Amino acid sequence: MFFDELTEFPRAVLDVLRQPLEDRQITISRVSGTIQYPANVLFVAAMNPCVCGYYKDQEKPCTCSLMDVKRYQHKLSGPLLDRIDVILEIPRESLHVVL
Ligand SMILES: [Zn+2]
Repeated sequence: MFFDELTEFPRAVLDVLRQPLEDRQITISRVSGTIQYPANVLFVAAMNPCVCGYYKDQEKPCTCSLMDVKRYQHKLSGPLLDRIDVILEIPRESLHVVL
């Protein structure tokens, strides 16, 4: 399951993911009963480092304030981040054209 631009999802949606990621199942409870479905997925997501996308970029300066960067990165809750096993910062790849 791939979430591109993870921080663009509403926080309520992201917080709902916590339990299925932890339990590896989805539980739906209604008046008539409760049912569980398997949810053993590989959760992969991508996001920019800030609103403008250039925080820590070597080639183009970030136009965000430090407060904007923190606010953007804190869109993801700690409990959700705790359920992500690997988090990588991937710098921009320089494009070298060889003729
Ligand atoms: Zn920025």
